Amino acid sequence: MSASIYLDYNASAPLLPAARDAVVAALDVVGNPSSVHRFGRDARRLVDHARRQLAARLAVDPQRVIFTSGATEANAAALSGVDVTRRLVSAIEHDSVLAANAVETFAVDGKGVADLASLERALVEADTPTLVSLQLVNNETGVVQPVQEAAALARDHGALIHCDAVQALGRLAFSPDALGVDLLTLSSHKIGGPKGAGALVVRDGLPLKPLLRGGGQERRRRAGTENVAAIAGFGAAVEAANIDAWSRATGLRNRLETQLVAADAGAVVFGAHADRVGNTTCVAMPGVDAETQVMAFDLAGIAVSAGSACSSGKVASSHVLGAMGVPDALARCAVRVSLCPDTMAADIDRFVAVWGQIAVRGQQGRRAVA
Ligand code: PMP
Repeated sequence: MSASIYLDYNASAPLLPAARDAVVAALDVVGNPSSVHRFGRDARRLVDHARRQLAARLAVDPQRVIFTSGATEANAAALSGVDVTRRLVSAIEHDSVLAANAVETFAVDGKGVADLASLERALVEADTPTLVSLQLVNNETGVVQPVQEAAALARDHGALIHCDAVQALGRLAFSPDALGVDLLTLSSHKIGGPKGAGALVVRDGLPLKPLLRGGGQERRRRAGTENVAAIAGFGAAVEAANIDAWSRATGLRNRLETQLVAADAGAVVFGAHADRVGNTTCVAMPGVDAETQVMAFDLAGIAVSAGSACSSGKVASSHVLGAMGVPDALARCAVRVSLCPDTMAADIDRFVAVWGQIAVRGQQGRRAVA
């Protein structure tokens, strides 16, 4: 049976109708946005319209928005583009941040919240040009991070700060200036835009070495012909994003957690005591590894992911749960369930019922082996 209940919105959200319309319309625009003739100008208008849509949502000057192929590229551009010798990133960042050169990590606590004392100690330690990177919302646990406080610390120590806000866009109201960050990463497909578009928002006047060089696109900050259709869809999705609608998922997420914990299979919810976005839960079913659960849920028509979907195929347990001090054996049994505004109570009840069946099979399997 193919998956009919989709609970993996943090991996990718379905295309919004407004984004689809914008993509389809843009696909027929033939010009290259860098061409000066009318065809080029038509394409340029679409890119600049999307730039204004993002800028309006973030309360920034549109010139500060650089379009990229996604958040992975935006993170790489941020981490490698500033003139620093040290990159202090939280231990729960996305792999695309952790993969940058010369990265040192600072700790998070057991609730999944960045430990600002650990960041401050690291900032005090060395007097070299430093970039801090802290995400706004963790993709696995949904835990909201103290970015504003981290930005103040970074500023006090003369450091720059980058924020990966991919999982916060559309879920929380924020702006890079209110957070106090120099660089901010966004992705289109987590909010109902098409895959393959993202953005890096840069503080006015911050010198940035481009990751991709050659053409003069994006004011010489990102070479390469713009993905006009994806960018147009991204802009439309940002404009359509409805934070109140997303926060409605909170009630269902809480109901799901309450039922799982009550189900007597030893469910453990991670980050439950921290401030979280309302659509995400990361929960372990002790004794049943995450890959087995994901496959069993899939057979029952329910799509969830084992920790971060970006790392699916990787057998290692989640680095996020590891950084929170969760024992490896338990972390290996954690799945991430992420809801959307359209998730129904019946979807959650079905998830809970299937969870119960998988847990019972797991217990029977362990008894048979014992
Ligand atoms: N950062 C975070 C927090 C993410 O969740 C993701 C997607 N899993 C990315 C970066 C990468 O985004 P993209 O797919 O646009 O490259």
